[in-house]
Amino acid sequence: METRSFGNLPSMHEDRSSSAEVANLLERARQAALRSYAPYSGFRVGAALQLAGGEIVTGTNVENVSYGLTICAERAALVRAIAEFGPEVQITAVAVANLNDAASPPCGACRQMLAEFVRADAPVVFPAEDGLRTMRFTELLPLAFDMKLK
Ligand SMILES: [Zn+2]
Repeated sequence: METRSFGNLPSMHEDRSSSAEVANLLERARQAALRSYAPYSGFRVGAALQLAGGEIVTGTNVENVSYGLTICAERAALVRAIAEFGPEVQITAVAVANLNDAASPPCGACRQMLAEFVRADAPVVFPAEDGLRTMRFTELLPLAFDMKLK
């Protein structure tokens, strides 16, 4: 499976402001991380979703003393996007940032949740071990669960 940088995506190539849009999306994710509620882990994460209509919706992680109830920034952004724009939202790009200078690819639960609303070729940009990384959504989750009853 090939990994391509954001700038190499054909759809983004046609848009000369793409790198500025990515930078803006990352900045919005970082700003969301500033509002995180992470008193237990101290891991402060923000996510920004670019919607097909041009809107940007952000989310941040919200922890709970009952650890399992914690919600990630990506899912927080997703439920907010649906609350604000309805269930027909299409996510065209995802950015994740954190204030801990740590790797933070979307977790498996968030990938599965995003799968129902994100375009297959949507770029997902996140801090990796070796710096900022961009992958297409289907590279992050090639076999999302889908219920196809016969
Ligand atoms: Zn997650």
